[in-house]
Amino acid sequence: VQDRLDLLKSNTYNSVNSLLDKIALELATKVDAKIESGQEIGLLEGIPFGIKDVYMLQGTYTTASSDLLKNYKSAYTATAIQKLLDAGAIPLVKENCDSFGHGSSSENTIFGAVKNAINSDLVSGGSSGGSAVNVAKDYTVFSIGGDTGGSIRQPAGYNNVFGLKPTYGRISRFGIMAYASSTDCVGPIAKSIEDIRIVLNVMSGKDIKDQTTYQSEKISKETILNTDEIKTIGYFKNFIESDAIDSQIKADFLASMEKIKGKGIEVKELDFFESDTLVSTYYTLAMAETASNLSRLDGTNYGSRIEGDNLKDTYSITRSENFSEESKRRIVGGNQVLSQGFSDEIYLKGLNLRDQISDNFEKDFKEVDIILSPVTPNTPPKIGDSLNDPLAMYLSDAYTVGFSLGQLPTLTIPKGTATGLQISASKNNDALVLQFANFLN
Ligand code: GLN
Repeated sequence: VQDRLDLLKSNTYNSVNSLLDKIALELATKVDAKIESGQEIGLLEGIPFGIKDVYMLQGTYTTASSDLLKNYKSAYTATAIQKLLDAGAIPLVKENCDSFGHGSSSENTIFGAVKNAINSDLVSGGSSGGSAVNVAKDYTVFSIGGDTGGSIRQPAGYNNVFGLKPTYGRISRFGIMAYASSTDCVGPIAKSIEDIRIVLNVMSGKDIKDQTTYQSEKISKETILNTDEIKTIGYFKNFIESDAIDSQIKADFLASMEKIKGKGIEVKELDFFESDTLVSTYYTLAMAETASNLSRLDGTNYGSRIEGDNLKDTYSITRSENFSEESKRRIVGGNQVLSQGFSDEIYLKGLNLRDQISDNFEKDFKEVDIILSPVTPNTPPKIGDSLNDPLAMYLSDAYTVGFSLGQLPTLTIPKGTATGLQISASKNNDALVLQFANFLN
C-alpha cells in the first residue's frame, strides 16, 4: 500500500485528484493484524483500489473534477464502495476524470489533463481516464469507473486494460454523482477478466436505495470457463462501413472477425437501426438528464457559492463561474431540449428513438449470442487537439453510446484493434460477455 501511495503521489499522469493515504494506511494495519491473529479474511482483503472522483466515500473529497465541488466532502459512502470496503479492499485514491463525467478525454477537469499510460502525449480517454491509467500503470489493482455513454470502456481501450459496463441496474448507483440517471453505470477497470468477475460479483445486488437495481446471480469461475453456449456472434456493418472509422481499426476489426470464424463460430452482419442518429439521440437524452441532475448545484446546499445581490444572482454567478464550459454547454443544451416548444420536437423524439434502438437490440439478440464492435472509430488524439471541437469529441463516442442506451452489459478487452474490442450481450447476460472474453483471450 505504501509503495503504491508513493507512486500515486508523484502523479506523473495527472491521474490523482486526492490521495486517501490516511484511510489506506489505517486499513492496511488492520489487515496485517487480522492476518497475524488468524482471523477470517474478506474476498478482497488488502487489495488496493482506486475510485473515480464522482463516488461518495464518507469524509473524503468528492469533487467531480469541478470548481463547484472542489472543497466538497462526502457525507456518506456509495453502496458499491461500501461493498468493496466490506470485502476488505483498500481505497488509495480519488481519480481524475472529466468534470461530472462530461467528456471523452479527461481534459475537462480542474486537475489537469490525464495523460495516456502508453504514450503520455496522448489523451487518456474519458471520462474515467485517471482510473484506466492507474490500473494500466499498476498503481491500483482495480479501479471503479463510471460509464454513462462509454466512460469506462473507452479509456480502458485507450490504455489497453479491461473495463466493464455491467447491465444497467446490476450495481447500485446510490452515492455516485448522477450524470444521466437512465444510463449511469458503476463498473470495474482491471488487468484481467478474473479480476473484473470478482469485483463485479462483490458490487452487484439489489439496493433499497436505488430502485432501478435488481438481484443478480453471482458469476462463478466455472461459468466463465464454459464457452459452449456461444455459437453465433454479430457485428454492425454500418459501424464498420462508416466514413469516420480509422482504416487500421477497420482492417484489424475485420481480421478479428475472420479469426473468430476460424474458431468455428458463425459471424453475422447486422444493421444498426438508424446508426446516424445514435450520437444525437444519446446526447439529447444525456444533456436533458444532466441539466436536471445538476440543477441542485446552485450554491445553496453543496460546494462553492458566490454571493450576488439577490438569490437569483447568487445562483447565476455561482453556476456561471464554477461549471466548466463543457458542462455549461450541456446544461444549456439539456434545458433547451426540455423546454416548451422544443421538448416534443427533440426530447420526446429522442425517447422514442431510444425505445426503437432497444427493440432493435432485442431483435438482434434473437439471432446472435454476442455483438462485437470496435470501442472507438479513432485512436486517441494528442492532448489539446480536440478540445475546441466538441462535436468531433461527441462523434468519437459513436460505438459506445448505443450499448448504453440499450442498458446492455458491454466489456472492453485490450485486443483486436489498437483501442480494443467491445463485447456485448443481452440484458443481464454479463456472464456471457465474460465467457466470450475468456474465449478470445
Ligand atoms: N463521452 C460521453 C459523454 O461525454 C460518455 C461519458 C460518460 O460515460 N460519463 O457523455
